[in-house]
Amino acid sequence: MVERIEILKRLQSIKNKISELEEFKKCRKNDIQKKKELIDNKRILSEKRHEEKISIQKEIDSKELELKTDEEKVNKYNVQLNAIKTNKEYSALCSEIGCKKADMSLLEDEILSTMSKLEVVDKEGKELTEELKCDEESLKELIINVDADVKRTDSEIGKLQKDQEQYINLLDEESLRYYKRLSNIKGGKAVVAIIGNVCGGCYMNITTQTLNLLISGKELVFCPSCSRILYLDEK
Ligand SMILES: [Zn+2]
Repeated sequence: MVERIEILKRLQSIKNKISELEEFKKCRKNDIQKKKELIDNKRILSEKRHEEKISIQKEIDSKELELKTDEEKVNKYNVQLNAIKTNKEYSALCSEIGCKKADMSLLEDEILSTMSKLEVVDKEGKELTEELKCDEESLKELIINVDADVKRTDSEIGKLQKDQEQYINLLDEESLRYYKRLSNIKGGKAVVAIIGNVCGGCYMNITTQTLNLLISGKELVFCPSCSRILYLDEK
C-alpha cells in the first residue's frame, strides 16, 4: 500500500514537471511573438516618420517656391520704380514692396522652422531604422535560442514520459483509474499532500478520521472536500 501511494506521488511529480516544461516552452515561444510585435510596431512608426518627412519636405518646397515668386515680384516692382513719374504712384509701389518683403521675411522664418522640424523627424526616422536593424538581428538570435530551448525541453519531456509510463505499469488498475480520472477533472492535480492538516489541493481542513486513515496507510485516502488522493508530507 505504501508503495502504491509512492508510485502515485512519483506520477504526480512527473506530471507537474511536464506541465512546468510545457509552460516554459509556451513562455519561450511567447518571447518570440512579443519581439515580433515590437518590431512590427516599430516598423509602422518608421513608415509614419518616413511619410511625415515627405510631407514636411513638400511643405518646404512649396514655401520656397512661394518665396521665389515673391522675390521675382519685388524685382519686377524695383524695375517699375525707375519708370514711375508721380510721387503718389512711387510711394504706393514702395509700400507694396514693403508689404511683399514683410511677407517674404515671414516665409523665410516659416521655412527655417519647418526645416528644423524636418531635421527632428529625419533624426527620429534614422534612429528607428538603426533600432530596427538591431531588433531584427536580436530576433534571429532569439529564434535560434528558443528553438534550442524547445528542442532540449522536448527531449526532457520525452524522458519524463518514459518514466511516467514505467510508473503507470507498476500501478494497479483501480489506482490508475482514480489517478487518471482525478487528473482530468482536477487540472492535472490528482495527488496532493496534507500540510498542517490542510488539503494541498482545496485547502480545506481534514478530519482526524481522515488523518488516522492516512497514518495507518492501509488504503488510498481521498479528500472529503475535493476528492483528490491524499498523502502525508513527511516534512
Ligand atoms: Zn481537498
